[in-house]
Amino acid sequence: MIGPLSGKFIDNVNPATAEIVGQIPDSNEKDIAVAVHAAEKAFPKWRLTSLEERFAILNRIANLIEENLDTLALAETNDNGKPLWLAKKVDIPRAAANFRFFATAIMHFATASHHNEGVSVNYTLRQPIGIVGCISPWNLPLYLFTWKIAPALAAGNCVIAKPSEVTPVSAFLLARICKEAGLPNGVLNIVHGTGAVTGEAIVTHPKVKAISFTGSTRAGERIAGLVAPKFKKLSLELGGKNPNIIFADVANAKDAWEKMLRTTIRSSFENQGEICLCGSRILIEETVYEKFKTDFLQMIKDELTVGDPLEENTKQGAIVSKVHYEKILNCLAIAKQEDGKILCGGNAIQLEGRCANGFFIEPTVIENLGPDCTTNQEEIFGPVVTLQSFKTEEAAIALANASQYGLAASIWTNDIGKANRMAANLEAGIIWINCWLVRDLRTPFGGMKNSGVGREGGWEALRFFTEAKNVCIKL
Ligand code: NAD
Repeated sequence: MIGPLSGKFIDNVNPATAEIVGQIPDSNEKDIAVAVHAAEKAFPKWRLTSLEERFAILNRIANLIEENLDTLALAETNDNGKPLWLAKKVDIPRAAANFRFFATAIMHFATASHHNEGVSVNYTLRQPIGIVGCISPWNLPLYLFTWKIAPALAAGNCVIAKPSEVTPVSAFLLARICKEAGLPNGVLNIVHGTGAVTGEAIVTHPKVKAISFTGSTRAGERIAGLVAPKFKKLSLELGGKNPNIIFADVANAKDAWEKMLRTTIRSSFENQGEICLCGSRILIEETVYEKFKTDFLQMIKDELTVGDPLEENTKQGAIVSKVHYEKILNCLAIAKQEDGKILCGGNAIQLEGRCANGFFIEPTVIENLGPDCTTNQEEIFGPVVTLQSFKTEEAAIALANASQYGLAASIWTNDIGKANRMAANLEAGIIWINCWLVRDLRTPFGGMKNSGVGREGGWEALRFFTEAKNVCIKL
C-alpha cells in the first residue's frame, strides 16, 4: 500500500449522514506510472502460472470475501447508502461468486481448431493481453469491480483497477484480501482517484492495452474518443433507460399479477433505483393501466420504507452523494415542468436522528409524459419511474425502442408466443420474461445503442481479456 505521490487526498462522505468518514488518495499520472511499472514486473511470471494455481488463488479470494461479508457489507453501505441487508444479500455474495465463477471458468476455457482436409490445421491460441485497465462505478461497488478484475486475472493479465472515488472502501479491503490469498505483488494494482485525472491516466497509458469500463454513457464516450486512435481493446457497459412492459393477460391470474407487482417494485426502486438494469419506463397495456396504477401505488405506500440504511426494515436507503441527489431533484423539477403528473413522491425527505443531514428522496411515480420528453429520454438513475400505456404489441415495441439506450427490458405476459416475438423485436442486450435481474454468470451481458459496446460474462469476458492468435500448420 502506498500513498499518492501528490500528497493530495479526496474526502469520502457517508451519504446517509453527510459526514466525512475518511480520505482516499487523489492519484495522478505519476501514481499510474508506478502501478504500470509494478504490473510490468509481475506479468512475465503471472502469465505463466498454471491454471490450477490461478484457480487456487482466485478461489481463496472468493472464500475470504465470504469470510469478511459483514465488514465488506458495512463498508458498502457506509459508502453508497444502500440498505445493509441488501449489501449482505446481494453485493458481497455476488463479489465472491464473480471470483469463484472465473476461477473455475479458466480451468474449462478452450479454444477452437479448424481442419482444412489435406491442406492445413489451424489452432487458436488465447493469450493474456498484458496490462489491462478496469474502471467501475459507485452503484454496485465491489460487485462490478470484481466482475471485471476476476476474469482479467483468471486470463493471466496484470490489472490496474480503479473503483469509483465515491465508493472506495470495499476496493481497499479487497486489496488486503488479495494479499492474504497469495496474489503476487504487482498482479493487481488498485488505484484511487477521480475519473478525470486517475481514470484518464489509466486509459491513456500506452502500456495499458485493454480497458473494461462500466459507468455513464458520457464518460464512455469520452474514453472511446481517447482510446480509439490508440487501437486498444475496449469494453463499455454504459447507461440504461429500460422498459418494463406489462401485458393485460397478467391480470387474469392473481398470483401472476402479485409476482409482477412485487418484482416491479424491485425493478423500479431497488438500490434506490441506482441499478443500470432498473426498469424506469413502465409500459402498461391500456385495459389494465388503472388497475396497475392503483395496486402499484398501494404497494409503494404499504411497503417501501425509506430510512436509515442500517435498519433492517429499510427498503430504500440514501442516494449515493450530494451531487447525485441534486441531479435527481433537478430531473424531478424537469418532469414537473414537462407537465408530468406526480402520482407519489417527487420530493426529498428529511429523516430524523443519525440521518438528519443525509440524502434521501421519496420513491416517485410519474404519468402523463410522452416518449419524447426529457424525463423518458434521459437516464435519471434514482427512485423515479414513469407510467405510459399502449394498445397493441406493435405500439409496445415502438414505445420500448424509443430510446437512445438499449441495455435491458422486462416483459410480463402469460402468452409465450407474444413474449418471444417481443424479445426478438426489442432493442436491448438483456431481456427478462416474467422476471427481472435473474442472473446466470455464463450468459453474455451488455447493451445495444448508447448502452455500450461489447459483452461481458462467461466466455465473452475471457475472450475479451485474451488476444486470439491463429497458428496454421501445413499438412
Ligand atoms: P461515471 O461514468 O461518472 O464513473 C464511472 C467510473 O469511471 C468511476 O470510477 C469514475 O471515476 C470513472 N471515470 C469517469 N470519467 C472518466 C474518464 N473520463 N476517464 C476514465 N474514467 C472515468 O459513472 P457513475 O456515476 O459512477 O455510475 C453511474 C452510471 O454507470 C450510470 O449511467 C449507470 O447506468 C452506469 N452503469 C452501467 C452498468 C452496466 O453494466 N451497463 C452497470 C452499472 C452502472
